[in-house]
Amino acid sequence: MKGKIGVTSENLFPIIKKFLYSDHDIFLREIVSNAVDATQKLKTLASAGKYSEQIDGLTVKISVDKAQKTLKVSDNGIGMTAEEVEKYINQIAFSGADEFLKKYKNDANAIIGHFGLGFYSSFMVSEEVEIITKSYKKNSKAVRWVCDGSPEFMMEEAEKESVGTDIIMHLNSDSLEFLEENRISELLNKYCKFLPVPVVFGKKKEWKDGKYEDTDTDNQINDTTPAWTKKPVDLKEEDYNNFYSQLYPMADEPLFNIHLNVDYPFNLTGILYFPKLKNNFEVQKNKIQLYSNQVFVTDSVEGIVPEFLTLLHGVLDSPDIPLNVSRSYLQNDSNVRKISSHITKKVADRLQDIFKEKRGELEEKWNDLKLFIEYGMLTDEKFYEKALKFFFFTNTDHKLFTWDEYKTLIEPGQTDKNKKLVYLYATNTEAQFSFIEAAKNKGYDVLLMDDVLATPLLNHFEQKYPESHFVRVDADVVEKLIAKEDLEHPDLTSAEKNEMSPIFQSVIPKERGQFIIDFQNLGENSSPMVITQNEFMRRMKDMSKMQAGMSFYGEMPDSYNLVVNLSHPLVNKVLNEKETELGEELAKYRTELFSLNEQKNNLDKLKDGKKEEEVPQEEKDLMTETVENITKIEAEKRDKLEKFGASNPLANQLVDLALLASNMLKGEALANFVKRSIELIK
Ligand code: ADP
Repeated sequence: MKGKIGVTSENLFPIIKKFLYSDHDIFLREIVSNAVDATQKLKTLASAGKYSEQIDGLTVKISVDKAQKTLKVSDNGIGMTAEEVEKYINQIAFSGADEFLKKYKNDANAIIGHFGLGFYSSFMVSEEVEIITKSYKKNSKAVRWVCDGSPEFMMEEAEKESVGTDIIMHLNSDSLEFLEENRISELLNKYCKFLPVPVVFGKKKEWKDGKYEDTDTDNQINDTTPAWTKKPVDLKEEDYNNFYSQLYPMADEPLFNIHLNVDYPFNLTGILYFPKLKNNFEVQKNKIQLYSNQVFVTDSVEGIVPEFLTLLHGVLDSPDIPLNVSRSYLQNDSNVRKISSHITKKVADRLQDIFKEKRGELEEKWNDLKLFIEYGMLTDEKFYEKALKFFFFTNTDHKLFTWDEYKTLIEPGQTDKNKKLVYLYATNTEAQFSFIEAAKNKGYDVLLMDDVLATPLLNHFEQKYPESHFVRVDADVVEKLIAKEDLEHPDLTSAEKNEMSPIFQSVIPKERGQFIIDFQNLGENSSPMVITQNEFMRRMKDMSKMQAGMSFYGEMPDSYNLVVNLSHPLVNKVLNEKETELGEELAKYRTELFSLNEQKNNLDKLKDGKKEEEVPQEEKDLMTETVENITKIEAEKRDKLEKFGASNPLANQLVDLALLASNMLKGEALANFVKRSIELIK
């Protein structure tokens, strides 16, 4: 018998061949899973008493015939009668085919499977496909169906002893790679590794007389009962770890696992693993694999599991995820969204359990886990809420605290005068050592927040808890890190400041960035000088490194404060030396400036209330001259002070010590410091 396949579009086969070409690997998955379905159906019939023959040894076999250039998939499942071939193979229920194909032409997965095109995917690799099938039904005659990829087919009675179906693909000249054992093994390993029915490809091989030889044992390529299909009570830690290495042979042992087993309101099983995360977000090679009834579908799970969970490894299996439709469809699917939030909840619950039952283990693995958890807290609100219970702060003494524990610890000592709780943190225990020490000596606790997500995370905390404030230990002098009462401010006129700033400004190496000189009375026992970096600016700069659209902050030069402690004897020594060396000259400048400013004030008064054109020209000229003189003298004065500073060993030494304490003294400046130090102790 001959006939025409019931496809409404003549274009179907060319389109299958053309657009699906890039993804043609999946044909084998489609054909093998049809075969698996057929055997499972027979099993179901047998257990319902509708089939009385022996059903032991249900298997799917794959074989290649290099001479004939054929690839064959055989099963001993239910088979098809001639009517069934007519119904299931010839008439593809496919309305609006053109429109559909246009829409999804770039998404092979969307077409295949969704409209029952599974079997037809064999035409991507074949010039002709043959079906030889015999139904399980009593007195069925075997049928042979042949089609060369045009909508025409041929169907006839055939000889076949046993119940089941053979699909014989006569490979086209572009697809001869599928005659290679390695290629088929690769595909089977990718798509069929966990199918529920034994899948056999040739014989197991044995090393004999210098080469591999076939043994008598079938080469079964799949594990029909992978760990996720079993009950959690039947599995030991070891089984979970073994399954993990079955999935990812090269990976390190995972940290923890989560066995998912849901049957309401959707079906979902699977095992997720927390892998050992490296400290940077390298692209994860080993991804979560998605299965539908043990058939591998994809390992790009974006949109199905929340983004932060894509860092996990493992397997998800759900017949309820519409696996074969396009991604945008997936993300809007309500089942998918439910599954996604369920997985988040499960992961959080599991971590919470581990926290309750074996906190020690969680603490031990915290370093490997924390990036993952912090990422989750930043990107998923629900997860954040749960995670606050098991998130750990680590302090600079490597002690771990939960959110609540830490709050209790620091509340008494680190609440400032505005009732804000100040969390002090360091990002580098070496570079910020002297600041950490100073804070500790004051009775404060200092957190270590040194991973890539630290800055966004503490921004997040501050948004959540406006009454808390995170401050890096070097953001200010220790006396001002946590403002308790207003510090007694040194009583300085701006003229006095103007006379001191240039001395120290001149000493700072220019390449270190911008410095603002600040004067404080910090007491004799504090350092003479400290370099601090404003928390807000520094954090903005840190953020700009991670986020687009913040380049404004990224391009700003680094800016620091040099805090000069006016109550320190060494600072006073420098200022006294200045008086000795420049006292007379400075006094002269001061008087000159005083009278010039007086003059300027008087001229200003004269001008008062007059329009520009009413001011006599001489007055204008005098004003210009006065202002020029003030600028000139100030410049001269500053020049003197700078020269004094630059040549004053003590001023240099003090600034260098402050730079050194902040890990900022490098290169030539450091070498000069060493030389000068030797001179000073000689
Ligand atoms: P789908 O599998 O999505 O239904 P297919 O085009 O792959 O679409 O297959 C169409 C139908 O053909 C199947 O539903 C099944 O009834 C029948 N069929 C395909 N392969 C086999 C097989 N190996 N044994 C028995 N029936 C089969």
